[in-house]
Amino acid sequence: MDGRFTGRTVVVTGASSGIGDGIARRFAAEGANLVLAARRRDRLNALAAELGTDRALAVVTDVTQQDDVLAMVRAGAARFGGIDVLVSNAGVGAVKEFEETTLADWRQVMGTDVDSCFFGAQAALPYLKESRGSIVQIASASGLGGDRRLAAYNAAKGAVVNFTRGLAFDLGHFGIRVNTVAPSLTVTEDSAVECAAMIERFDERRALAGFSTPADIAGAVTFLASDDARFITGTILPVDGGITSGSGQPHLF
Ligand code: NDP
Repeated sequence: MDGRFTGRTVVVTGASSGIGDGIARRFAAEGANLVLAARRRDRLNALAAELGTDRALAVVTDVTQQDDVLAMVRAGAARFGGIDVLVSNAGVGAVKEFEETTLADWRQVMGTDVDSCFFGAQAALPYLKESRGSIVQIASASGLGGDRRLAAYNAAKGAVVNFTRGLAFDLGHFGIRVNTVAPSLTVTEDSAVECAAMIERFDERRALAGFSTPADIAGAVTFLASDDARFITGTILPVDGGITSGSGQPHLF
């Protein structure tokens, strides 16, 4: 790896598993200091130990709580001398019929997926102004259209998508860029069985066969956070094998 992030500090929320774990590993491989945020202390500590505790700080954080996010960002900045990149990755879905969706379900999805992005951006802003850094958020193909039994998740990820665009305009004059990656179903340790059961239905609708991995998402995130993307802001980058490029119709011919 070429060390594009050597000497820079990257906050990754939801770093205790799946895509966030993959993003943190990729930034570390490219030289970054990491602030790892999530609720599961054991998973965060294990990852920090693997990456090297001189370069990785684990901070137990509930991203639905503004005070927690603020304290986490401040702890990271104090430890490493600033913040260069915020990756707002933590998220949850709620697979439910709409009529069974409770206010608690709705609040959990909105709190984890949307409030977290707002809290992260607000907390990191003073440091990103100093570093002229960037924000990368993780939305979803489900933020670009609708899915059965996922209306709350569709609403939340759609909000993340358009928050990206507005925030890019609000922060551009500070030299801060804001972009979002929109994965489709991605194979993680927790979704491997689900993915295997769905592969044929996905392959019918995608240009590329197979599923993305956390490493594929991390490649897009590090690109958007890097100087290679110096003039890219307010963009939504699907990493989805082409599924959102389709018309939505099954193959006709
Ligand atoms: P995981 O369930 O593996 O990871 C979710 C992460 O978010 C965990 O680290 C979890 O940590 C953290 N998290 C959840 N709630 C909170 C909370 N209240 N406070 C702090 N951290 C929290 O999912 P993925 O890796 O698959 O998903 C990562 C992101 O990618 C999400 O935003 C998801 O919506 C998005 N995405 C995923 C796709 C996929 O197919 N995998 C497809 C499209 C988008 P902990 O439990 O320790 O708090």
